[in-house]
Amino acid sequence: MLIAFAPAPNLTTYRTTATPVQSNSVLPAASESKAASKRIAIVIDDFGNGMTGTAEMMKLPFPFTIAVMPFMPTTKSDAETAHKLGHDVIVHMPMEPNKGKKEWLGPGALTTDLPDSEIRKRVEAAIDNVPFAVGMNNHMGSKVTADERVMRIVLQVCKEHGLFFLDSRTTFKTVIPKVAAELNVPLVSNDVFLDDVYSVAHISKQIGILRKHLEEHEKCVAIGHVGPSGKKTAAVLLSSTPSLRENGVIVKVSELVRRTGDQQILP
Ligand SMILES: [Zn+2]
Repeated sequence: MLIAFAPAPNLTTYRTTATPVQSNSVLPAASESKAASKRIAIVIDDFGNGMTGTAEMMKLPFPFTIAVMPFMPTTKSDAETAHKLGHDVIVHMPMEPNKGKKEWLGPGALTTDLPDSEIRKRVEAAIDNVPFAVGMNNHMGSKVTADERVMRIVLQVCKEHGLFFLDSRTTFKTVIPKVAAELNVPLVSNDVFLDDVYSVAHISKQIGILRKHLEEHEKCVAIGHVGPSGKKTAAVLLSSTPSLRENGVIVKVSELVRRTGDQQILP
């Protein structure tokens, strides 16, 4: 799917200060334990419509998170296949963008002109339509995710259904961190879009940005897509798997949520 992505400043800028190294003799052990503590979560959006690359993604040799659009021809079968393979399933909730065509949104989409009751109805219907969903993220949504009234209802319904929210961060004006904190909804945010340009060179470059992000952070969430870039993204992820495993442990987004929860109960 076409997504207009305005990167937030901290997605692409990094501190220049190097991490201090204690002594050369402990380097190998230190770097191994560093990789063991880092988490990489890959999310693939836009399942549910039999998009190009669906089969290739399903064959990837690591656990990941698949975001399935509701009310589409392969919504149920994609969710069931992913669940059987042990992947996370999340609802890929279509939300109005600032720019773009309405037909990209898909059925049951959230728009800012809808009344409260209709927003609640659409979010509940979407959750009911995607089997095994443990979370939700936004499809497009640069307009909706900046709208506090709409996002408060979306996140409240997620809370009632025990779902975490993954903020795809299609706008730097997102209100999701603020509202999710107020409602105490578990939140994970996207760090890197893998395939906003549909070329192997670009996707490989984004994998490099993912690695760079991990040097300075404990986790990196990266979002790719089935669709025009699907086969290329799947191929790059497959060929990058061994080297990614040297940078961190590849997990599902739900494991990042649990991990954050675990940390919160520590003194
Ligand atoms: Zn999408």
